[in-house]
Amino acid sequence: MKAYSVKELLEGNLLLQEVTVNGWVKTFRSNRFIALNDGSTLANIQCVVDFENFDQETLRQINTGAALKVSGTLTESQGRGQSFEIQVEEIFVHGGADPEAYPIQPKKHSLEFLREKAHLRVRTNTFAAIMRVRSALSFAIHQYFRQNGFYYFHAPIITGSDAEGAGEMFRVTTLSDKNPKLNDQGNVDYKEDFFGKETNLTVSGQLEAEAYAMALGKVYTFGPTFRAENSNTSRHLAEFWMIEPEMAFYDLDANMDLAEDFIKNVIGYVLENCADDLQFLEKRLLDEEKTKPQAERSEMALIEKLKFVTENGFKRVSYTEAIDILRNSKPNKKKKFQYAIDEWGADLQSEHERYLVEKHFKCPVILFDYPAKIKAFYMRLNEDGKTVRAMDILFPGIGEIVGGSQREERLDVLKDKMADLNIPEEELWWYLDLRKFGSAVHSGFGLGFERLVLFTTGMGNIRDVIPFPRTPQNAEF
Ligand code: ATP
Ligand code: MG
Ligand code: MG
Ligand code: MG
Repeated sequence: MKAYSVKELLEGNLLLQEVTVNGWVKTFRSNRFIALNDGSTLANIQCVVDFENFDQETLRQINTGAALKVSGTLTESQGRGQSFEIQVEEIFVHGGADPEAYPIQPKKHSLEFLREKAHLRVRTNTFAAIMRVRSALSFAIHQYFRQNGFYYFHAPIITGSDAEGAGEMFRVTTLSDKNPKLNDQGNVDYKEDFFGKETNLTVSGQLEAEAYAMALGKVYTFGPTFRAENSNTSRHLAEFWMIEPEMAFYDLDANMDLAEDFIKNVIGYVLENCADDLQFLEKRLLDEEKTKPQAERSEMALIEKLKFVTENGFKRVSYTEAIDILRNSKPNKKKKFQYAIDEWGADLQSEHERYLVEKHFKCPVILFDYPAKIKAFYMRLNEDGKTVRAMDILFPGIGEIVGGSQREERLDVLKDKMADLNIPEEELWWYLDLRKFGSAVHSGFGLGFERLVLFTTGMGNIRDVIPFPRTPQNAEF
C-alpha cells in the first residue's frame, strides 16, 4: 500500500480510508496515543493504539525516537488541537530507540546542548522548523533569480585569488602520498600546494561572477564560502553559504534596488509558504523573551517583524551622513560608544551599525558611498576621489547582511588601485582582461545566507541555522 506523508494525512482528503504512514515517535502516552512525525510538516499525526491487539515486544519498542510504519483507518479526532487520527491496525517497528540512551527526549533541551548533537537536533521541532524555512528560502532565491532573467553560475571553490584581501583564507594542501607516512613528530606530511600552485578555498565567488556577468548579463552564485574567522561571534562561521548576484550595466542605485526587492521577495515567500513553522518559531521566541527584562525584549513579534520588512522601504543613507548621526548620538546610559567615531574614514563597528538600524532609523538601512580606504580594491571610485560606490545593508538584530558595490570598470583606475595595495597584476591578469575587452558599468552584492536565515527564523546564533556549523571549536561532524 502507498504510504502517505503526515502532511497529506492532515490535509483531510483521506477520511475513513485505510492509510499507511512512516515516521518517528515524538511521544507515546498511556500505552495508547502515539504522536508520529515524519518531517513533512510541524504537526504530528496521532495514532490510537488498542494495546490489547499488540504483543508486548512491539509495545516495548514504541519509544520516543523509534521509527515506525503504522497502518489503520483515518478518522476525525476527538482530541483537542488535532483534526485527524489513525485507528491503528498494524505497526511495524523499523528501528527502536533506547530511552536510556536516546538524547532527544520530549522535554525542552537547550540550544547549547543540541549543538553538541548536531546529527540529531533536527529531530526537535525547533530545528526541523528552522531547516524547513532554510530550504524554502533557498528555493525562493533560485525562483526569484530565474523569474528575473538571471543565470545560475557555479564559481570555483578552489581558487588562486583573495577577492576580499582580508587574509582570512584556508590554504589547500595535497596529501603527499596515498598512504602517507608519519614524520618524526608523528604528523602526516602535506605538500604546501595544490599540484605545485598556491591555492585557497574561495572567500567569495564575485571576481569569477564578474567574468560571467560580462557575457551572460545577469548571473548569480549560491554556494559555500570559507573564511578563517579568528573571532568567535554569533554572526560568523568558517563555512557559510553566500548568494552573489552580478549584473552587467547596473550602477549602484540599480544594485540597491535589486537587493531590496530580492530580500523582500524571498522573505515574502516564506511568510506565504511556511506559516506553521514561523508561528511555532515566534511562539518559542515569545516564551524565551518572557525570561528577559522588559527593556531587552523586542518590540515586534517575529511575523510582524518579517511583514514590516517586506512592506516598508529600506532607509538609504550615505556613510558621511551616518558618521554625522553617530557623532551626535548618545547610544546608551554612558552616552558613549565603545569605539568612538571621531573621524571621517573610520570603519563602522557592529555597535554603530546596530545603533543606526535599531535605535535611530528603526528599519533596515542601506549605507552607501564608503571611504575607499576601508573597502576592497575592486569598488568603483567616485568623482570625489575618496569614496567608493559601496553599499552595506544592515538589518535589525543582525547587523550587516549584505555587502555590495558597483565595480571599477576603468582599467587605469583599477591598476592604480591595485598598485597602491601591492596586489600584483600577474595574479589578476584575467580580471584585468575584463576591463580591456568590452568593459562596462557593472555591480553586484554578496548576501550571507545564514544571516538571512537568522533574521527570518528569529534565532540568535548563526550556529543554529546551518546543519553542521563550522567554527573554531566545531568541525567534528
Ligand atoms: P562582517 O563585517 O560581518 O565580517 P564582511 O564585511 O566581512 O562581514 P563581506 O565580505 O561583505 O562580509 O561578505 C558578504 C556577506 O557575507 C556579509 O554581508 C555577510 O552577510 C556574509 N558573511 C561574511 N562573513 C561571514 C561569515 N564568516 N559567516 C557568515 N556570513 C558571513
Ligand atoms: Mg568579515
Ligand atoms: Mg563588514
Ligand atoms: Mg562587507
